[in-house]
Amino acid sequence: MTPRTVCLALALPALAGAQDALIIQHVTLIDGTGGAPVHGASVVVKDGRIAAIGPGDSVALPDGGDRIDARGKTLVPGIINLHGHVGLTKGLVQAQENYTRETVLDNLRTYATYGVTTTTSLGTDMNLVVPIRDAIRAGRLPGLTRVLTALQGFTTRDGYPTTAPGVKGLAIEVSSVVAARAHVKRLADAGADLVKMWIDAHHGAFEKLPPNVFRAIIEEAASRGLVSTAHLYDLQDAKLLADAGLNLMAHSVRDTEVDDDLASKMRAKEITYAPTLTRELSTFVYADSPKWLNDRFFSKGVSANLVSDLRTTLRDAQRADPEQQINRQNLRMASGNLKRLADAGVKIGFGTDTGPPGRFAGYFEHMEAELMVEAGLTPMQVIVAFSRNASEALGIDESFGTLAEGKYADMILLGDNPLDDIRNLRQIDAVFIGGHRVSM
Ligand SMILES: [Zn+2]
Repeated sequence: MTPRTVCLALALPALAGAQDALIIQHVTLIDGTGGAPVHGASVVVKDGRIAAIGPGDSVALPDGGDRIDARGKTLVPGIINLHGHVGLTKGLVQAQENYTRETVLDNLRTYATYGVTTTTSLGTDMNLVVPIRDAIRAGRLPGLTRVLTALQGFTTRDGYPTTAPGVKGLAIEVSSVVAARAHVKRLADAGADLVKMWIDAHHGAFEKLPPNVFRAIIEEAASRGLVSTAHLYDLQDAKLLADAGLNLMAHSVRDTEVDDDLASKMRAKEITYAPTLTRELSTFVYADSPKWLNDRFFSKGVSANLVSDLRTTLRDAQRADPEQQINRQNLRMASGNLKRLADAGVKIGFGTDTGPPGRFAGYFEHMEAELMVEAGLTPMQVIVAFSRNASEALGIDESFGTLAEGKYADMILLGDNPLDDIRNLRQIDAVFIGGHRVSM
C-alpha cells in the first residue's frame, strides 16, 4: 500500500460520519419491489444509506438534517442500466484514443443527471475504469453514476464487432477453450465485475464464438463470481446460452419470435433479459429526423454541434443504409419478444446499449422506459425492471436496487408520478447517489 492510499483509507470513515442526515417527507414512494406505492412516506438517509423508510407515522425522524418536503412528489429507485459502454465515444467518433479518465468521468456525470445511478460497461473498456469504479464505490467521486465493468469482451477471431471503429484490439478474439479460460482468469484478476461475449453472425458476415468456447467462458466466470452477459441475435443461440447457464441476455432475440421453450429455460435458471429497444431504434431513427432532437431534455446532455451532425451526417448515412428495413423490423421483433417473455414470467431487466455513436447516455434510458411501455409493459413493470430485477441480475441487490432500509440511497425525486405516465420519469427534481444530491 502506498502512503497515499493509507491516508485516504483513514480519512474516509471520518468524512462519511460527518455527513448530515437527509430526510424526505410526505413523498409518494415507489420502492421498486412492484408493491403498491406508499403515500405520505418518509425516508431518512444517513452516511449514504437508507436508515429508515416507510409510511410517515412509522418512521422516527432525527433532529436536524437536510429536510425536503416532497408533498406532491414521487420517489423512485435510481435507474440501473444493464447494458452501456463508457469512454470510447466523443461526438460521433468511437475510437480507442478517446478512452481517457476524463471521457469516462464525463459519461458518468451525464448518466447521473438523468437519474441513471448505476451503469454497466460491457466489453469495450480499458483497465483505467477499475480505479474510477472503486473511487465512486468508496465515495471519493460523489455525484457520479456507479459503474460495473466487463473490461474486454469475447468474440471469435475477426468476429463481430471487430470491424466496428475502435473495437479491434480491444475485444478478445479467442478460438480455444484453454485461451478463453485463461482470459477470464486474467479479467477477474484485473478487477472485472462481469464477462461479455458477442455471439452474432450479423446475417452471415462473421463467424460466431463456438458453443464449447462460450460454455467454458460462462463456467469460468461463474467459478470466479463474475456475472456472464451476452450480445446475441438468434433464438437458437439464446437457447444454447440459457442451457449453458448465462446470467444476462444483453439484447433482444431478433431473428424470430421467442417460444415457450426459451421462456421455460430462462425461468428455470432465472436468466435476466435486457431488451435494449433503443439500440434498435438508434440504427434507423435519425433517417426520420425525429422531433426529440429539439427536446431540451435531450439537448442538455449533448453539444449543439453534435445535434447538428445528427440532423445531417447521421440522417443521410441512415437514409442510405441498405439495412434500414432490417433495422426497423428488428425493433418490431424485439418489442414483440419483450412482451411475450414478460407475459411468460421471464425476469425482465433494463438495458440500452448507450455509449456508442448515436446512443446517448441518460436520454436513451428514458426512451427505453417509454419503448418498453409501448411494447406492452406497465410503468410498474418497467420500474421493477430497472431497479429490483437489474440489481439481482448484477448480484448487487443486497445494497442496491429497491429502496429499503440498509440499501444505498440511489434514487430519483420526481415532480409527477410515473405510474400515471412513464414520461413523468423525465420530471426530475433531484437525483441522489449514495444520498449525495447530483448537481444538475
Ligand atoms: Zn453493447
